[in-house]
Amino acid sequence: MKELRGKVAVVTGAASGIGEALATRLAAEGMKLVLADVDEAGLERVAAALVRGGAEAAVIRCDVSSAQQVEDLAREALSAFGAVHLVCNNAGIAGTTGRMWELDAADWQRILGVNLLGAANGIRAFVPLLLRQGEGHVVNTASQAGLLPAALGDYSVTKHAVVALSEALYYDLALTGSGVGVSVLCPGWVRTNIASSRRVAGAAGPDPMREAVSDLLRARIAGGSDPAEVADRVVAGIREGRFYIVTGDDGWANALRTRVEDIVASRPPSPPSL
Ligand code: NAD
Repeated sequence: MKELRGKVAVVTGAASGIGEALATRLAAEGMKLVLADVDEAGLERVAAALVRGGAEAAVIRCDVSSAQQVEDLAREALSAFGAVHLVCNNAGIAGTTGRMWELDAADWQRILGVNLLGAANGIRAFVPLLLRQGEGHVVNTASQAGLLPAALGDYSVTKHAVVALSEALYYDLALTGSGVGVSVLCPGWVRTNIASSRRVAGAAGPDPMREAVSDLLRARIAGGSDPAEVADRVVAGIREGRFYIVTGDDGWANALRTRVEDIVASRPPSPPSL
C-alpha cells in the first residue's frame, strides 16, 4: 500500500508507546485513525493530541483478548469512517516473572490472550473486510524476541507465535492474489511503558535472581530506541511492501544466525545476550 493519505488505520494498544507513535506517524501521513486500547484515559490523551494536529481520530475501548470486542471494534471502525485500510495489531504486554514450571493456567491465559489471540482476533475481524475491498495491509507487532532463542520466557513464546501467525497469513494472502499485504514488526528494545505490565507468577516468591533479570529488562527498555523511529520504519516498510520489519541495533542478525546454526548442528541454544 503506497498511498496512505485519506485512508483509515486501526491501531490497537494506541494509548502508549509504539502504538501511540504509530498513530501519530500515520496521522502525519494524512490517515484517519481508529485508536483502540483498554486504557481509556490514555486513548483520550492521544486522540486529543492528534485532533489538535488536524487529524481525524475515533477512540474505542477494546480488550484485544476478547474476540467479541475486536469484532465490535471492526464494526465501529467501519461505522466511523466507512472503510479500514491498515490494521496494526500492536497491543501487547510484558511477560511473567517466574520459571516455566511456575506459571499457572491464568498466567498463560493472560499473556497468550493479549499477545497472540489479540493478533489472531484482529486478523479474523478485519482481513475479510480488506479482502472485500481488494486493498489493505496488516501489521502485527511481534518482537526480536520472536526471532531469537526464547530468553524472555512466556513473552518469547507469544512473540514466536506472532511471527508464525504472520508468516501463515502471508502465505494465505499470497494464494488469494489480492492486494492485501502483511508485515510483522520485530523491534528490539524500545523506550515505552511495557515494563509496567510485567507480572510475577502466582507461585513465585521473592527471588534475587529473578529480580535482577526484571531490573535488567527495565534498564534495557529505558535505554531502548525512540518509538517514533520504530513508527518511521513501519511506514517505510508498508510502502515498500516489506514483510519482516526488524528494528533496533544490528546485533540481532548475528544472534539469529547463531540460532539457526545451533539448530542445524543439533546443538542446544547458545547463551542469550540480553
Ligand atoms: P506499552 O505498554 O507502552 O503500550 C502497550 C499498550 O497496549 C498500552 O497502552 C496498553 O494499555 C495496551 N494494552 C495492553 N493490554 C491490552 C489489551 N488486552 N487490549 C488492548 N490494549 C491493551 O508497550 P509497547 O512497548 O508500546 O508495546 C507495544 C507492542 O510492542 C507490544 O506488542 C510489545 O510486545 C511490542 N514490543 C515492545 C518492545 C519494547 O521494548 N518496548 C520490543 C519489542 C516489541
